[in-house]
Amino acid sequence: MYELSGFDVTRSNSHFKLCDSVVSIRLNEFTKMVEVAAVANPIPTEMFRFRTLEELMALANTNVHLPDIIGEVSDIRTTYNDHAQTTQRVMVTIKVDNDATVCVSVFDSVAELLHKRLEAGVVQPRVMVATNINPKFVGGRLYLNATSGTHFYFDNEVTASRTLFEQLSTRPENDTTSGKQYRGVKKLEPVSLGELNNYVLNSPPQSIEFLCKARIVSLETTNGWCYISCAKCSKKLQRGISSFTCTTCFNASAVGVVRYRVEMHVESGEDTAVFVAFDSAMSKLIGVRAAEVANPMGQGEDPLGYQIPQFLQDIVGNAYIFHLKLTEFNFSGNHKSFTVARIFDPNDRIPGPTFAPHYIDQAK
Ligand SMILES: [Zn+2]
Repeated sequence: MYELSGFDVTRSNSHFKLCDSVVSIRLNEFTKMVEVAAVANPIPTEMFRFRTLEELMALANTNVHLPDIIGEVSDIRTTYNDHAQTTQRVMVTIKVDNDATVCVSVFDSVAELLHKRLEAGVVQPRVMVATNINPKFVGGRLYLNATSGTHFYFDNEVTASRTLFEQLSTRPENDTTSGKQYRGVKKLEPVSLGELNNYVLNSPPQSIEFLCKARIVSLETTNGWCYISCAKCSKKLQRGISSFTCTTCFNASAVGVVRYRVEMHVESGEDTAVFVAFDSAMSKLIGVRAAEVANPMGQGEDPLGYQIPQFLQDIVGNAYIFHLKLTEFNFSGNHKSFTVARIFDPNDRIPGPTFAPHYIDQAK
C-alpha cells in the first residue's frame, strides 16, 4: 500500500474504457510514493466489472468498452495450427447469467498461453473469469474475443470465481466429484510400424494421427538436414544472387532462417519406413534450434552442403515414440514418408488417456 502525492489528473482514455473512472492519475517527476504499513479502510484486492449478456450485446462491435465476464465453463475446443505447430485458437463456451451460453474466442499468443495453463491442470476448470474482452457479432452470433490485455482466472484463483464455483458445487444436479478432462491434448492411438504401413495401404485417404515406436537406423541426407526458410512464413526460400525470395510472401528480399528438415530411416522388427521431422519436432527433441548451428548469411553455400551436427548423428540408433500426422497424401500409394509432429523419449510421459482425479483428492 502506498501514499501518493504530487501527480497530475487527466481525463481517462476515451478510446478504450479500461476503467470506470472518468479521470485518471498520471505520475510525473515530482510524484512521491511512500509505503504505508496499515490503513484504516482496507482497499479491495480485486475489482471486476462483470456484464450481463444483455449489456455485452449492447457493447458488441462498439469497441469502446473491454468488459470482464464470468461464467460456468461448458466446453473448451482447441485448434492447432499444424504448420506452425502452435495453438491457433481456443474457444471456451461458457454459461453466463440465465444459463445463456456464449463463446469466448482466444487467438494466437494469448491462446497459446491459455492452452498451456489448461494443459497444466488435470481437470477442465468449471468457472472462468476473463478480463478486457471485446464483444463482437460475427454472422449474427455473439463472440467474446480476448484481447492482448485479457487475463484468465479459474475456479479458486480469485474470490469472484471461487464464489461462483462454490455456488455451482452446491447445486444438486452437479456431480462435483468428477471433473471433465481438458481435451486440448488429443488422444492418440499407438500403432506398430507394421500396422501403420498396412493402414495406409488398406484405408480410405484421411487425416489421422498416431503414436508409433521405432528405432532410427540412419539419417537420409540426400536432401540435407535443414533448409533455408522464410522468417515470416517458414516456407522454403528461393536463393537469388545476393538475396532470398519468398514466393509465398511475394518478398524479393526475405530474411532467411535455417530450419530442420530431417529424414530418418526407421525400423521396428521387420518393418521399415521413412519419417520426416521438421523444425518444431527436432528443436524440441534436441534442445538446439537449427538456426543456432547454421546461419544462411554466414555460410554462403547451399544448405545441402552444411555439415551434419554431431548431436543429430547421435540420435541414430535410438528408439523413440513418434507422433505422426498422416494426410490424405499418405494414402496415395506412392507416399514416400510420414511427417512427424513430435518425438518423445520412450521414458517420457506420452499424451494419451489419463484418469482425472476427483476434486476431493485435489483438495487434500
Ligand atoms: Zn514467406
